[in-house]
Amino acid sequence: MCGERDGTIELRYARLVLCEECFKKYFVERVRKTVDEYKMFKPSERVAVAVSGGKDSVALLHSLKMAYPDLDIHVIHIDLGIDEYSEEARKVTEEVSKLVNVPLHIFSLKEEKGYTIKDFIGTKYGRRICGTCGIIKRYYMSYLAKKIGADVLATGHLLDDVVEVMITLFVDGKFGDLITQKPVLEPDFPNQVRKVKPLVKIYEWETRLYVDLNNLPRLTRSCPLRIGARSIRRKEIIMRFEEQEPAFMRRLYRVFTKKLIPILEKSVEKPRLQPCKICGGPSLTGICSKCAREVYLKDKKHLDIKIG
Ligand SMILES: [Zn+2]
Ligand SMILES: [Zn+2]
Repeated sequence: MCGERDGTIELRYARLVLCEECFKKYFVERVRKTVDEYKMFKPSERVAVAVSGGKDSVALLHSLKMAYPDLDIHVIHIDLGIDEYSEEARKVTEEVSKLVNVPLHIFSLKEEKGYTIKDFIGTKYGRRICGTCGIIKRYYMSYLAKKIGADVLATGHLLDDVVEVMITLFVDGKFGDLITQKPVLEPDFPNQVRKVKPLVKIYEWETRLYVDLNNLPRLTRSCPLRIGARSIRRKEIIMRFEEQEPAFMRRLYRVFTKKLIPILEKSVEKPRLQPCKICGGPSLTGICSKCAREVYLKDKKHLDIKIG
């Protein structure tokens, strides 16, 4: 791109070899193009960026700020209360927010609700604790984004993540759920915000490189509660396809979003959602999965939890 420096980074999917400086620019440019292509937000909107401290969300925040220096960006962070892991996550998030000069809002489960993810250990939700953590995290990210007046919630989901989920859902025959992997999800309830995935065309190895080349802080620990590596194993298998056939993941994502999902949206009946009696959020049965878990903890473990 620059015609000056030696190219050291090979992007096989794009048949490009770039120098480090041009790679950083190319990364930011692709984030901008993805946002524009899917009309993720308007320049006048307030964008909440969910930062966990991991490399993907750090790369998301930094590249969004580089692509849109004047955008009204706010960082939101959920403190899950998982010992040193959460402490480091919080520290990294504070550091990177300061670095890009963006206000930070933290929601601490312990302080605001009276429990932590660790409280699920040893309960019936303990075996699938990552799923429970995801449900709770997603709820409070939306909640916090809404609370700070954001129009949009941006998350750091990457191409590798989305393709892995799509293949899993496809194999399991859960075609209706594929719709949730769209790059833009409009709210289906008034207390929600639009959710967007600006990194959805970026490979995982690219975010790692972007964070390294920009010397950005990032979480060094992995979550101590994480069990089962099925999704990681699947990602490795998908990566092997990619090695044999560059741009495989990009093509698969394109086919799913441009061809399959539009058909599904017409033919698959949307689940009939009703407002949760406790929090007002979307639910299938009248109590949402998040509130069901909070009620369970309160009843079984007699914790002083603020439900709702
Ligand atoms: Zn260059
Ligand atoms: Zn609820």
